[in-house]
Formats: sequence, C-alpha cells, structure tokens
Amino acid sequence: MMSWRNVLKILCIGLTLIISINVFLVFYTKRTLQKLIWGSLQKELNLPLSEWNKTVMKRLSHLEVDLQHLKESMKLGMSQQENMDSTVERVKYEEHPVQKASEVKASETKKHKPKEILFPDSQLFRQWGEGLSDVQQKKAENLFRKFGYNVYLSNQLPLNRTIPDTRDSRCLQKTYPTQLPSLGVILIFMNEALSIIERAFTSIINRTPSQLLKEIILVDDFSSNGELKSYLDMKIKLYNQRYPGLLKIIRHTKRKGLAQARNTGSKVATADVIVILDAHVEVNVGWAEPTLARIQEDHTVIVSPVFDNIHFDTFELEKYALAVDGFSWKLWCRYDPLPKDWIDQHDVTAPVKSPSIMGILAANRIFFRDIGSLDGGMLVYGRENVELSLRVWQCGRRIEILPYSRIAHLERHCKPYALNLHLALKRNALRVAEIWMDEYKYMVYLAWNIPLQNPGIDFGDISSRMALRKKLKCKTFDWYLKYVYPNLKPIHNIVGYGRMKNTLDENICLDQEFVLANTPIMYYCHEYSSQNVYYHLTGEFYVGPLIAEADTDDHCLTDPGKGEKPTLEPCSKAAQNRLHIYWDFKPGRAVVNRATKRCLEMKKDTSSIYVPVLQTCTTQVWTIQYTVQNWGSN
Ligand code: UDP
Ligand code: MN
Repeated sequence: MMSWRNVLKILCIGLTLIISINVFLVFYTKRTLQKLIWGSLQKELNLPLSEWNKTVMKRLSHLEVDLQHLKESMKLGMSQQENMDSTVERVKYEEHPVQKASEVKASETKKHKPKEILFPDSQLFRQWGEGLSDVQQKKAENLFRKFGYNVYLSNQLPLNRTIPDTRDSRCLQKTYPTQLPSLGVILIFMNEALSIIERAFTSIINRTPSQLLKEIILVDDFSSNGELKSYLDMKIKLYNQRYPGLLKIIRHTKRKGLAQARNTGSKVATADVIVILDAHVEVNVGWAEPTLARIQEDHTVIVSPVFDNIHFDTFELEKYALAVDGFSWKLWCRYDPLPKDWIDQHDVTAPVKSPSIMGILAANRIFFRDIGSLDGGMLVYGRENVELSLRVWQCGRRIEILPYSRIAHLERHCKPYALNLHLALKRNALRVAEIWMDEYKYMVYLAWNIPLQNPGIDFGDISSRMALRKKLKCKTFDWYLKYVYPNLKPIHNIVGYGRMKNTLDENICLDQEFVLANTPIMYYCHEYSSQNVYYHLTGEFYVGPLIAEADTDDHCLTDPGKGEKPTLEPCSKAAQNRLHIYWDFKPGRAVVNRATKRCLEMKKDTSSIYVPVLQTCTTQVWTIQYTVQNWGSN
C-alpha cells in the first residue's frame, strides 16, 4: 500500500508536468500564430524587410498600448457590469423581496414586451427610452442626473457619427486661400462624459484638414470623474500614436472655473489661431476654413460659428437659424434678430456683426492674449463672454458670426457643476457692470434686484481689468449702446424697485401670474423676478423681469377703468391706447391711479386669499424694497 504522502508527491509531480506542457504549448502556439500573421501581413503589404521591421515595431508598440487599453476597458467594463448586476439584484430584491437573484436574472431575460417608463416626469424619457428594461432605465436616469445629458445613449453612438450638413447651399461654393494659418483647438471640461469628449475631438480630427490642425488642447478643470483620469490619458496616448503630438492635456489641480480653464488652454497653445470650445460639441463639415480665412484677413476680429443644437435626450441635431448673439440687462445671453444692413446686403455668406458671443470663439492667439484673454476673476461660469464682448468692441475691435462655419453644441438640461449658478452669475454680472458699463451699470443692479448702495456682493478685485481698459484706451459703454447694441434701452427714471408689499400682510408681495402674464397677483414673497417691480418717476409700474429693450415690452400695471381687477399690459401698446398706466406713489403711501383716482389695494377672495383690487381708496398703503437716491425720503 502506498502511503498518503507518496500519493500526494505523485500528484504534485503530475500537476507540475501538466502545467509545464501547457506553458510550452501556449508559447509555441503564440509564436506560430505570430509567424503566420506576420507572414501573411508582410505578403499583403509587400514590404521590404527593413520597412517591414519598422512597421512591425510600430505595430507592436501599438499592440502593446492596445492591449493595455483593452485591459483597462475590460476592467472598466467589468466594474460597470458588476455595478449593473448589483443594481439588478438590489432593485429586484426591493421590488420582489422573496425572489432570489438567480430567479430574477432568469425572469429578466424572458421579458420581451415593451417596458413601462419608470421616470415619467424625467425630461430624459419624454421622447426617448422606449423598450429599455427597468435596469437600463435606472442606469440612464442616473447618468442623466449626473451629467445633464443622455450619457447612456452617447456611450452607444459611434464616436465618428455623421451629422447633417446644416450650411446654406450657397456656402458650398465658397473657396478659401490655399495658405491658411494653423489651428489650435481648446476643449475645456469639468466632469463631462468621456464618450462626449471623445466624440468632440473625433469630429475635430475628422472634419478639419490635417495640414491646418496643429493641436487639440484638453483642459481638465479638476474633474472628479474617474474615467477622465488615467483612462483618458491612455486614450490620448493612443490617438497621439496615430496623430503624433496632436492631443495635449492639462489638468488644473483645483477647480478654477470656465474662464480660467479657457485661459489655461490659450496659454499653452502654439497655433496661429485658437478656437475655444465646450467639451460637448461636434464640429460640422467645413467649419474651420472660413474661420481661419476670416482671421487671416483681419487678425483683430473675434469670430463665432453658428450653433446647432444637439438634443440632450435623443442626440438629434436641430438646425438653428442664423442670428446674432446678444444679452439682456441681467447679462443673460440670447439670440437677437439679424441686423438690417446685413439683410440688405443679400449675401448669406457674409460675416454678421454681433454685439456679443455665446462663449465659443475663434481668435488670433496673439491678439487674444494682447487684448487680455478672458477675465480670470470670473468665478465658476458665465458672463465672461459678455466681458470679452464689451472689451473687444469698446477697445476698437469687432465680433462677427460666420454663417458658413457651423458647430453642433449640446444644450444640457441642467448644469451639474453648481447647485445654484445664480450666485456666480450675479456676481460675475456685477463685475462686468463695474468694469465696462460706466453710468449704465445701475441697469444691471436693477435687473438683478440688487440695492445700489451696499449691495453686499463681493465681485472681487477689478483693478487690473480697469488698468487694462485704460491701457487699451477703450471707449465708453454709452458709445457701445449707440453704435453696437442699440437694442438695449436703458431706463433713466426708475426711482423705486424691488418687492412691493401692502402693510396689511408683509409676507406677501405683488407678483405676476406665472401662466397668465397679464394678471397681477399677491403671492408669498420669493426670489424670482416675477416679483420685481419698477416704479418710474413718470408714474408707470413695471411688474415682472426687467426687459428694457427695443422690441419687447415690459408689463405695466394698468387700471382697465372698469371692474375691480387690475391688469398687466405691454407698456408701449398701453400708452398708445391711452390705458391708465400712470400712478401716484411714494413709499409708505397709497397707490393711486392718476386718471381714475382708484387705489390699488388688496382684499381676501372667497378662499381667503389676498388678491389685488382697484377700489375707492381706504387706508391701505404700500412699501417698495429699494429707492434710488433720495426719492421718497420726504
Ligand atoms: N466648465 C469648466 N469649469 C467649470 C464649469 C464649466 O471647465 O467650472 C466647462 C464645461 O465642462 C463645458 C464648458 O465649461 O465644457 C461650458 O460650460 P457649459 O456647457 O455648462 O455652459 P453652456 O454651454 O451651457 O453655457
Ligand atoms: Mn456648453
């Protein structure tokens, strides 16, 4: 009888032998396979031996990176799968606590009928998501909340997908000089999805003539998203093997906000012309040549392409009409109608003079630096575009939209990088007002409903920007309004503004009904601009957000002359039609209509809710939040 020890010994030797044979077989098969593949490739490519060796070396290094890439992808895929599996199990257990995970997976695969929408109120599933399983819907919704667009779909769409050519057909006949400046593209991002960023630079590589595209600079504004770290680095390495030196990445070591991220990119760039883009864009065919040609013609012009919209849910492209970029007194960007003199030219391909840019821009790199890049004192997001626009115009240069350069930009459903963007927007707007808007800056304060004295908002140090304004010998905002943006109409006679309250109940404020904009109501006081009221020395009360521009009417508190309900009417029409829009008022006094002598008062309706009414004056009085200079003090 053999002892157990001997049995074990024999087993061990046997095992070692089997392993050795296997290892040998693996190596042998690999070498044979390599020989076979290399041999056939050599034949196919018909290369001489030295060429062949070089190619092989190159391919091998590619292969190495590819393998690394594959390994990373597998790791990522596996962890995603794990996440997904655990979600399946967790979700299903919660829904059917007595079912086992194995049963759940089996039943999951059997279901084929259309699934119900789990998030009927989510904007993601309004036009998309049919046929997705519960697990897929949950995954898509989670990604949507994290990024503000449909990452689930983006991850499935090809990186080099085609998009419709949205140019006017007349643009196609345009020709450009053969010698054009070199182009550097700056793509900034903060926690954007990897597939989105990759699609952006893939579109740039595929749709820009390679002899013009010198560099693509990615600026990571301190993202925390894992896939944007070493995985993205590796992808860049891979791209750079195909396009040597094309992609660069710079990473902020703390969050600096959009303006500084763009500045970081522009400092690193070396190309003649820089284009600054968001990470969620796809450039369209022929976008670059007209941009470069225009800047070659005049290196002091800042140009913007025309945007189309990539829908955040379906990723379909929506063609946008050509328009110019403007802004409101809150300095919100918006599209404005095309200027008359451009329309009269009857040339759809001619550049359009624009009062502002949306953010995305192209400029001569040196000119952009010399005019002061972007204001690095802007925090997080917003208004840096208006600051640049005022600077460019007031300092004697110009901004143009190029109708034949088109970029598709994804308008997100929400911005995941700040819970309350308003704080940054307001602060940045005041910075612009203080640096560039001279005596008109009060319009920005009014529009944001901020007190002119002691506003309590720290807009940072503006001394270096003021010095720049002086150095560049820039013109006034008054000049800008007259010659560049006459559509904005400053109002000079507003003497009281902010919330209007009746002393009967100081918790409620005069408000504009959300749906029926011509109906004034009393509502609990809140932060939104529907409760902004502007009293003019001439007697009008504007109610709602301050518009103050050429073609849109603010809403005037009106006594219709009969019935007890006041209305809100477009002011200029109301004035033309001789409606009763003029009131006598001082803080702490009654609000009396100058024509009808009726008072604006409030009373409880049948549901005991206060409503504004017009009636013979009793003793009711009103207050207004802020006054201008000494108005109403005596
Ligand atoms: N961004 C950034 N840092 C920030 C905020 C935004 O780098 O603190 C980037 C963001 O990833 C995007 C670009 O700035 O590529 C513009 O932001 P967004 O698209 O949200 O602005 P929008 O186009 O909606 O005006
Ligand atoms: Mn954007």
